[in-house]
Amino acid sequence: MITGKTKVYGLIGNPVSQSFSPFIHNKLAQEMCIDMTYVTFPVAKGDINEAFKGMLALGIQGMNVTVPYKSDIMACIDVVDTEAKTIGAVNTLVYTEEGIKGYNTDWVGLRQSLYNKKIGLKDKKILILGAGGSARATAVMCAKEGASQITIANRTIIKADTIAGIIKNNYSVQVSTAEITKIPDDCNPDIIFQTTPIGMYPKPGVTPLENKRLLECAEVAVDLIYNPNETLFLTQAKDSGCQIINGLEMLFYQAVKAFELWNDIIVPVEIQNRSLAAFEAAVKEKV
Ligand code: NAP
Repeated sequence: MITGKTKVYGLIGNPVSQSFSPFIHNKLAQEMCIDMTYVTFPVAKGDINEAFKGMLALGIQGMNVTVPYKSDIMACIDVVDTEAKTIGAVNTLVYTEEGIKGYNTDWVGLRQSLYNKKIGLKDKKILILGAGGSARATAVMCAKEGASQITIANRTIIKADTIAGIIKNNYSVQVSTAEITKIPDDCNPDIIFQTTPIGMYPKPGVTPLENKRLLECAEVAVDLIYNPNETLFLTQAKDSGCQIINGLEMLFYQAVKAFELWNDIIVPVEIQNRSLAAFEAAVKEKV
């Protein structure tokens, strides 16, 4: 029950009305018996600084930040966590002794979704399709986890080159870039991450990967999209013999990590599993 003592958490971004984050956080709060509620706050273009001040003034206890403010919010806060700084994007704001600290939990969520399927990245050759915010998080995760080679393929090559430069400056891993329509066969990926919105609802049935031979050498294909449940990229990867993973668990586990940071707790695995099952059922009903 919400009372005068209930702590408020939320999500700022635009749009936010479609977000599944309220479901996940309110479910975790209920399971963990924590007196908190989580709501969404749509923030109009140009209002991010005001929204941040409003969060402080209203005593909101923690925030998630989504598109299009994940980079802009970094100028408002006191400290940025190391990985979030490398990625260049913050999706979680936490009150700490150093002030408001920004974290990026997207890469943690993606890593957990791979751990759950016992997929390791050490010494693996990686191909990342796309060079936006989620590609940056993916590249940092792969470099941190010991991948041997990362190829970043994008429509706008300069964006891929920028990520490659960041990875080279921070980690010792071989990195190269390619145009998304001209990915060389010899990148021989073990794992392919699809991080573009191509194939997402309401425009399913398309894939950014033209070179199907790359699917034949890969063992695992990951699409960060979760609606539809299986994109054309994943269907083609499955038909080529790859193990396939969509973005649903990434979404769930990035929320779990934010919840843990806010409450300074570890959510027990059985509660995570129960909440994930409830989340999957809710998504199935909705999408
Ligand atoms: P973003 O920063 O806007 O980047 C989008 C990327 O896709 C860019 O590299 C862009 O290429 C490429 N792209 C877009 N439309 C294209 C087209 N028609 N042809 C070729 N390339 C195209 O987006 P983001 O934040 O990284 O998100 C990307 C996807 O990941 C979305 O579907 C989002 O829902 C999903 N995502 C999922 C999770 C999760 O928890 N599961 C978390 C974050 C994101 P250019 O550089 O050439 O424009």
